[in-house]
Amino acid sequence: MTTTRIRPLVAGNWKMNGLAAALAEATAVKAALSDSVAPADVMICPPATLLAQMAYATRGSAILLGGQDCHAASSGAHTGDIAAEMLKDAGATAVIVGHSERRADHGELDRIVRAKAAAAHRAGLTAIVCIGETKGERLAGLTLDVVARQLAASLPDAASDADTVVAYEPVWAIGTGLTPSPDDVAEVHEAIRGHLAGRYGDAGSRIRILYGGSVKPSNAKELLALPNVNGALVGGASLKADDFLAIIRASAP
Ligand code: PEP
Repeated sequence: MTTTRIRPLVAGNWKMNGLAAALAEATAVKAALSDSVAPADVMICPPATLLAQMAYATRGSAILLGGQDCHAASSGAHTGDIAAEMLKDAGATAVIVGHSERRADHGELDRIVRAKAAAAHRAGLTAIVCIGETKGERLAGLTLDVVARQLAASLPDAASDADTVVAYEPVWAIGTGLTPSPDDVAEVHEAIRGHLAGRYGDAGSRIRILYGGSVKPSNAKELLALPNVNGALVGGASLKADDFLAIIRASAP
């Protein structure tokens, strides 16, 4: 197993937020990062409508862009859907798949999430695969079982650290201001690391595992310092450049 520090990734998930005026937040992040090397890889996942414009607005910077979902097919009769190839064409290098809001709002099962992750790989995108338990599952003591099941069924067999990131996002922590205790986060991330290393070997020991769920400037340092926490997937706090930048800075060792 490798002992080299994994460079963190701080990714902002704008969800269904942002009109063209919000591009100013991305350019503010770009400006703030321009005079130094960021302590983490930085990514923004805007709504698909802003992707190409954001790629233009952040050109020449280290800011990476991601989509928030993709269809498993590369093209075809799927009204309203977006192919991974289209995201890549618009400037993305990654795509979030299996976010709990997609799983809940669109009935996305693990096998669909796996097909979307494979589609991301086919298109040359990094798949950011989200997993996490509901409040009921946590209270029932099922967290590690749920996470193990989601990992087993949502990740393609061919995944590696070059094309895959896992985001542990307890459903009950998303957008609620609640977070698990540091010990609880560390316990789940250790279990995820064990699964990834067991399944993918050395590559699995290098796959980044992000924590997501109410990460904000006030708790980022503590969360990002936990073992096997290799960055954060940030929702609400990524919408404002100042908050997002504070979280990025909190990823410094
Ligand atoms: C998310 O949407 O992935 C998320 C973690 O949201 P928030 O940070 O707002 O809880």
